Amino acid sequence: MKNSVALLKYKQSPDSLREAIALCDGFSGLKPAARILIKPNLVMWDNNLPISPFGVFTTTRLVEDLVLLLQEAGCTDITIGDGSMTAKPGSSTADAFVGLGYESLVTKYHVKLVDFNKSPGLKLRDAWGYEMQVAKEVLDTNFLINMPVLKTHGQTKVSLGIKNLKGCLKMSSKRLCHDPARGGLEHAFSVLPDLVKPALTIIDGIYALEQGPLVSGKAIRKNVVIVSKDILGADLVAAKSIGYDPEDILHFKELAHRTGKSLDLNNYQVKGEKLENHITPLKWDWPWTKDDIGPLAFERAGIHNVEAPKYDETVCSGCSLTSYVVNMLVLSAVQGKPAPVSLPRIEILNGKKRQARAGYDATVLIGNCIAKANAQNPHIRKALKVTGCPPEYLDIVETLRGAGLDVKDNAYVDALHQQYVRYEGKPEFSWRFFGK
Ligand code: SF4
Repeated sequence: MKNSVALLKYKQSPDSLREAIALCDGFSGLKPAARILIKPNLVMWDNNLPISPFGVFTTTRLVEDLVLLLQEAGCTDITIGDGSMTAKPGSSTADAFVGLGYESLVTKYHVKLVDFNKSPGLKLRDAWGYEMQVAKEVLDTNFLINMPVLKTHGQTKVSLGIKNLKGCLKMSSKRLCHDPARGGLEHAFSVLPDLVKPALTIIDGIYALEQGPLVSGKAIRKNVVIVSKDILGADLVAAKSIGYDPEDILHFKELAHRTGKSLDLNNYQVKGEKLENHITPLKWDWPWTKDDIGPLAFERAGIHNVEAPKYDETVCSGCSLTSYVVNMLVLSAVQGKPAPVSLPRIEILNGKKRQARAGYDATVLIGNCIAKANAQNPHIRKALKVTGCPPEYLDIVETLRGAGLDVKDNAYVDALHQQYVRYEGKPEFSWRFFGK
């Protein structure tokens, strides 16, 4: 029998989700006494530099719909948990819960909130024998509901149900997912469903994100909900709905190859809407120069001497954000100045394995990992290291200035502001989906 995947238009709460769950029999096996854990995507919050939530975070509205439906089914033991990227004060999972209105769910429905970053980690071994630590609550639950956002990803093209399981790992294990010695990010994703087994995956496509997964992305109102008990089936349908075939996504292929699951959408029963009527291709990446010396935006801005190749899959979430920060800072060094602006010849690297090339006046190494990887590199004339895991914003600013770039302090804040105001005055982008 084919596994079912429900694809429905989001029309209203909670009926659209109720119908989608019923279509794929998503609550079969759910007992009222179950210990339920809902895992939304609260990837990264920042009280000091707020970002627009559209397409970045699971909508609080859909999480509330799910809680309502679980209570209708007689369930009372409901926990919502995630482990946000926490780099500084004001960016914890607890801050995300407050900022996204989860506290009202505690008051109204008596759900519990859990920060996986504070949970004990339990050790498991993946299919290849590598040890990973999973937050205890994830293994204690007997009905895990996975609630990712429909979004693209700058390293793995899509970030959907399988990727959302990474948030159940302890921070040290999240970093190991990017370790090339363990097979790299796509490989790590492909084994996540062995460690963490959701009973149901609900992909929140009320908003979808192009060029995601974070602040560099651009949201659209997509208005779909995709639900399945089969995580790969849900991801295949979701990926197709934003323009990606199963063969485009390496972690889908590796998972299917290893487990014998099908990558062929014909082998899944899509119920509800016709998938072909809901395909909106979204770009996953920014344009980069052909020779990978930096984003195309550098070339367009007349920046030629400063080279910052695209981050690879060894860069973990903290440093991938700093890559965006670096690009904004470098662009700020020429903004408002008459061309051509004389710039030093520098190379900027991050991640865990890139090797500095010869011919630069200085090499800027962003993060502890890349500094270590290039500790003995004979091509480096002058190493400018920004230490940290991930490094601090002001340290990056100071180091780029030390390299001879006249970067603006507020370049990143300005970029975030642009991201924030992009959706203002557009009624389809409503904060009421995020608890406001
Ligand atoms: S320095 Fe950057 S790439 Fe290395 S572990 Fe820390 S965040 Fe990840």
